[in-house]
Amino acid sequence: WVAASLTRQHLPSARLSGDLASPGPPHFDVVVVGGGHAGTEAAAAAARCGSRTLLLTHRVDTIGQMSCNPSFGGIGKGHLMREVDALDGLCARICDQSGVHYKVLNRRKGPAVWGLRAQIDRKLYKQNMQKEILNTPLLTVQEGAVEDLILSEPEHGHPGKCRVSGVVLVDGSAVHAECVILTTGTFLRGTVVIGLETHPAGRLGDQPSVGLAQTLEKLGFTVGRLKTGTPPRIAKESIDFSILNKQTPDDPSVPFSFVNETVWIRPEDQLPCHLTHTSPRVDAIILENLHLNSHVKETASGPRYCPSIESKVLRFPNRAHQVWLEPEGMDSDLIYPQGLSVTLPAELQQKMIACIRGLEKAKMVQPGYGVQYDYLDPRQITPSLETHSVQRLFFAGQINGTTGYEEAAAQGVIAGVNASLRVSRKPPFVVSRTEGYMGVMIDDLTTQGTSEPYRMFTSRAEFRLSLRPDNADDRLTFRGYEEAGCVSQQRYDRAAWMKSSLEEGISVLKSIEFSSSKWKKLIPQASISTSRSLPVRALDVLKYEEVDMELLAKAFPEALKKYTECRELAERLKIEASYESILLCQLQEIQDMQRDEALQLPEDLDYLSLRDVSLSDEVREKLHFSRPRTIGAASRIPGVTPAAIINLLKFVKTTQ
Ligand code: FAD
Repeated sequence: WVAASLTRQHLPSARLSGDLASPGPPHFDVVVVGGGHAGTEAAAAAARCGSRTLLLTHRVDTIGQMSCNPSFGGIGKGHLMREVDALDGLCARICDQSGVHYKVLNRRKGPAVWGLRAQIDRKLYKQNMQKEILNTPLLTVQEGAVEDLILSEPEHGHPGKCRVSGVVLVDGSAVHAECVILTTGTFLRGTVVIGLETHPAGRLGDQPSVGLAQTLEKLGFTVGRLKTGTPPRIAKESIDFSILNKQTPDDPSVPFSFVNETVWIRPEDQLPCHLTHTSPRVDAIILENLHLNSHVKETASGPRYCPSIESKVLRFPNRAHQVWLEPEGMDSDLIYPQGLSVTLPAELQQKMIACIRGLEKAKMVQPGYGVQYDYLDPRQITPSLETHSVQRLFFAGQINGTTGYEEAAAQGVIAGVNASLRVSRKPPFVVSRTEGYMGVMIDDLTTQGTSEPYRMFTSRAEFRLSLRPDNADDRLTFRGYEEAGCVSQQRYDRAAWMKSSLEEGISVLKSIEFSSSKWKKLIPQASISTSRSLPVRALDVLKYEEVDMELLAKAFPEALKKYTECRELAERLKIEASYESILLCQLQEIQDMQRDEALQLPEDLDYLSLRDVSLSDEVREKLHFSRPRTIGAASRIPGVTPAAIINLLKFVKTTQ
């Protein structure tokens, strides 16, 4: 087996014992195809759950590659990272070891919408991710291009379906598996575009995945086409930073991972970012050269919320658009101009760059480019990310129409955990909309599909105040430990300690009660109204912006000092105090939604021929295509009317 000998150079010998070394076609519990952000998380999660896992990817040296921006997190995306971390995933911990500029966005708004974000050293991230992946117990890593799937008879009781039982590589060799997860990113029939030139590639310098795209099409999956792009890279020494606005990192840095109290680098050693803006000359160059820019003319949808500079100029002409100059790494000579994704011919990109303040003499080292690729309509997968039509086949990441490393990572963990649970015949691990942003994203995708690259936003979640970055461990770590087995004992113990400390702290804060005039004397900094006649609890005083646990502990050292010794605990007590009353109101709405979600629709319900329920043909087709698992999910499918939901509800109640 040719590919196996390649891997030997990269792997510790222990990794090759067992399946790959034994005679006959190798057999694994879970095979993951693709070593990007979804694939690494999926492979590591399946292995953490106890499955013998194989990660098959084109090149081991591109595992963990950041194809576009040198940053992780942001508003909504930072929430997803915290949830990945709560399930013991990798990206948050790796970012704490690889960042060069940590900053929490949206600080002026409430903690529910804070966006943890960091500029990341690309090289370090890749190194740290590869180290982690290559040292994960039960995980084997193998170089190779997957071209085809091996299919077999379905499990009993599922007529009309088939089941995946392995993959075939480009050299014809086979690997058998109980479950297969495809995380092929932008590689399915990928085409790279600069100006009028196009060539087949998954991203610049990497071969596309054509055989696998054809296999999926032959299997009857509905395939769409999307596009995205990346900016040029600029030589750092050629930029005049002295005339630009400088942004410094936070001090102290807030780590992404619950298990870290600090990040690897001190704030004073971190690198700054700089802000500049486009000029009218940039608009002119773009508009005068549209005929030389085939990516812009393509009908495939691009990312609405991370658009190219061409689409910004076309949609919002005569505006100065922001360009953030971001470092690519500690010892990198390159700067990434965020906001300047472009597909003009290279010489025009250079000309355009020179029209931007601070970049007048800038040297372009690599041109920006676009990529167009196939994605699979995500309504073809269940909330556990398994496909409806092929048993034990899972999809995760950009293949499902999403964009972004964090969206990919979150789907990766869910697919890895569920593939492993499927192997051990345990119920799927599904995160609901009331439990996490992961649940919101997967529910949106599987019930509504997407016709443009989908990215996470806080506005997509109904229960923003409950789904905060600070409490992701409380929402997911215990379930991950008990139901999926993907969480380590150490992480579980830490989350359990935090939960009991919070509960205890809140009850102590509730028990300290005084009149408001007494509080005024105790904490003069707080703007407590002295007209209140009822006693005021310390928990209520903690809600005031100017009050924190340190201040309260000065007044009551014996009762409260111990809650200030861990910075995270003190901050979380303050957050819990601020949201206490609003969350009590939200609880009822959450319970209502959970009740709807608990009403399961039979998996094999044939909506097209179901005569006992009155449904329009349009609704039948929508339900048939999306196959919602619950009444709640059915109600969110656009076009499924409230009347149809009532009829479905009656049907479910009579059949259960
Ligand atoms: P990827 O990270 O793409 O990883 C796919 C992996 O699968 C690769 O390792 C590949 O080698 C492997 N693979 C593919 N096919 C096979 C096969 N048949 N056999 C074996 N291995 C295979 N995101 C944003 O949020 N904003 C942006 O502006 C943005 N711009 C982008 C611009 C470009 C040019 C590109 C390429 C991507 C951009 N992205 C952007 C997307 C971001 O990179 C992805 O969302 C993220 O990397 C997706 O992760 P993934 O794991 O799904 O796929």
